[in-house]
Amino acid sequence: MSSKDWIEKDYYAVLGVEKSASSDEIKKSYRKLARESHPDHNPGDPKAEERFKAVSEAYAVLGDEKKRREYDEMRSLFGSGAFRRNARGGGQPGGMPFDVSDLFGGAAGGEARFGGAGGGLGDLFSSLFTGGGAAGATRPRGPAKGRDVEAEVALDFSDAVRGVTLPLTLRAPGVCDTCHGNGAKPGTSPVACPVCHGAGVTTRNQGSFSFSEPCRNCQGVGTIVEEKCPECHGTGGVTKTRTLNVRFPAGVADGQRIRLAGRGEPGERGGPAGDLFVHVKVRPDELFGRTGDDLTLTVPITYAEAVLGTDLRVPTLDGTVTLRVPPGTPSGRVLRARGKGVARKDGRTGDLLVTLDVVVPAKVSDEARAALEAFAEQTPPAAREHLDARVRRFS
Ligand SMILES: [Zn+2]
Ligand SMILES: [Zn+2]
Repeated sequence: MSSKDWIEKDYYAVLGVEKSASSDEIKKSYRKLARESHPDHNPGDPKAEERFKAVSEAYAVLGDEKKRREYDEMRSLFGSGAFRRNARGGGQPGGMPFDVSDLFGGAAGGEARFGGAGGGLGDLFSSLFTGGGAAGATRPRGPAKGRDVEAEVALDFSDAVRGVTLPLTLRAPGVCDTCHGNGAKPGTSPVACPVCHGAGVTTRNQGSFSFSEPCRNCQGVGTIVEEKCPECHGTGGVTKTRTLNVRFPAGVADGQRIRLAGRGEPGERGGPAGDLFVHVKVRPDELFGRTGDDLTLTVPITYAEAVLGTDLRVPTLDGTVTLRVPPGTPSGRVLRARGKGVARKDGRTGDLLVTLDVVVPAKVSDEARAALEAFAEQTPPAAREHLDARVRRFS
C-alpha cells in the first residue's frame, strides 16, 4: 500500500462507514463485509475476491488508530488540493506542475511506504506546517524569497535628466521581530489545530460526496496561537517603515520601471530578499520637452528676425546658449544645440532641439503698417504657381 493508494482510495467508502465512525463500527462493518466476500463463501468469483482484498486493505488502515489518523490527515490534505498549493510555493504563479509521487519518491529515495516506515510521514507534515500565525496556508514553507515591492516616485524634470538620489520611504508588511512571525507570545509556540489536526482543512461527508473546506477553527493555517504575541496581536506581521536612498540614473524617463534587486521585503527565515520596483513619473517642465535623449524647446521669432537673421540667446537646463539664426530662415526650422540634451550613463549626451516659430503680430502700429506696405511693394509675390492650375479648375 503506497502513499498514492492512501490519496486515491476512500477506505471509509470501502467499509461503508461514515468518516466519523467509531472503531467498533468500523470493526463491525469490516467483519460483515469480510464474511460476505470471503473466497470460501464465493468460490471462483473473482469480483468477490477483489472485494475481499479491498476490505482487508481498508481495515488494515482504519482498524489501526495511528494509521487511521495519518490516513485522515493525508486525505484531507491531498483531497482538498491544499497540498498542491503549498508545495508550489505559496501560490506563486509559474510553479512546476506537481506530482504527489515525485515528492514522496524524492523524499524517501523510491516509493515511500507508510504505516511501517515510521517517522517519514510525521516529518513531512511538520515541514509542511511549521509556518504559523500570519504565515498562513498559502505562504511557502522553508526559507522563501521575500516579496517584491512596488513603489511610485515623481521626479522633477531636471532631476530626471541629470539623475538624482532621493530618499524613498516604504511602508510594507514585514515579519514581526518579537515572535519572528509565528504570532505566539515569546516563550510559547503555536500548537497544531485540534479540529483539523494541523491539516488546515476539514472534510465533510454528504451522502457519497465529501467536501473539503478550510478549517474554520484555524482559518486554514493548521496551527493556533494560544497566547498571542503582544507586538503583532497574533498575526505574525507588522507594518514596517523603511527609508532607502534610491539613485535615479541620469536620463530616467517617464513611465520607466527601475528594479532594485534585493531591496524588496526581506525573505523569511534567512531567505533572499525580494526586489523593489520603482515606477518613475516625471513631472513635465514648463519650458522643455523631451524626445529620447534630446530636449526640445520652441522659440518665437519675428518675421524680420527670420528674414534678416539674428543671434538668439536661449536657455538650456543648466545655462544658456547662443544660436545663430541665418538670414532667410523659414518658420519651423529646427536648430540644434549639441550636447545640451540628456546626459546618459554611457557618456553620450543628447542635443537641445530649438524649433523656430515665426509669430505674426495681431496688431501693428501705423508706422509699422506703412513700413510693411512699402516692404510688400518691394517683394515678389509668394510662389503659388503650383496651386494656380487647381484654383482655375474651380473658377
Ligand atoms: Zn509578533
Ligand atoms: Zn484547523
